[in-house]
Amino acid sequence: IYKVADLEVVALRGLELSVKPGEIIAIVGASGSGKSTLLNILAGYDTPSAGTVRVGEYDLLNMTAKEVVDYRRSEVGFIWQETSRNLFPYLTALENVELPMVLTGVPPKARRERAEQLLALVGLSKRMGHGQSELSGGEQQRVSIAVALANEPPLLLADEPTGELDDETSAAVLDLLNTVNRELRTTIIVVTHDPAIASSVGRAIAIRDGKTSTEMLRRVSFERRIGGQTEDVEEFLLVDSSGSVQIPRSVLDRLVIGRRVRVGVEHGKVTLEPGGE
Ligand code: ADP
Ligand code: MG
Repeated sequence: IYKVADLEVVALRGLELSVKPGEIIAIVGASGSGKSTLLNILAGYDTPSAGTVRVGEYDLLNMTAKEVVDYRRSEVGFIWQETSRNLFPYLTALENVELPMVLTGVPPKARRERAEQLLALVGLSKRMGHGQSELSGGEQQRVSIAVALANEPPLLLADEPTGELDDETSAAVLDLLNTVNRELRTTIIVVTHDPAIASSVGRAIAIRDGKTSTEMLRRVSFERRIGGQTEDVEEFLLVDSSGSVQIPRSVLDRLVIGRRVRVGVEHGKVTLEPGGE
């Protein structure tokens, strides 16, 4: 809940989400649905007014100031949408990647080596000496990913990392996040308003009005006969711990459901029937 003067803005309510170590998931939702609020909480930038948030060993509602600093330095990497916000313009790509390791006291030689490895991983071995102004938007986001990974955080958070990029460059950055997830086993949560991203990660969770509403799962099935691989994305509604589900707007409109529904169970299926005004 954000408090602005006398007003309270409830940004998240009834959000339930559990992410396994090593997973890569997308959080999708319209503008204002609470995506950034969730990510800022997970990054340790904001403390929620209530609820429970755990990341690894950390209880994000009960941390001392020192724990918050340690948490931000070693547990999470963060990538902002604004490419310019991720990098220091007067440092080279290599220096930008080294900087977080300076803060955690990694010796110069080790830090140089790791920075070079990370820039190789993101495909920028040949651009290490370039400053921000000499890098394209996509390249800047690649460097930003390397910066976020500098201290080997188990969790990587990206808030609309492709929001300022064209489609092709966006796809390449998403591919890179998938590569990082596979090769470094980093848990990744990527926020986007682009539903197409759902099909490029293992699982996509939709947020509506600050609440987890649906989950899209990617099913990969192999067609032996032709040796090809097809992908299906199946969408599920999420049931929270109190039994609530959010009925999608499109279904509400189609059935003209008002304030009440009759609930039935038929042949193992739950049915909802308009119950009048
Ligand atoms: P998204 O990232 O999905 O666009 P946000 O998490 O930024 O959504 O915002 C969720 C809601 O919280 C919106 O109604 C927004 O106006 C409100 N909000 C976000 N940040 C603040 C803030 N610092 N102060 C007050 N209200 C805020
Ligand atoms: Mg946002």
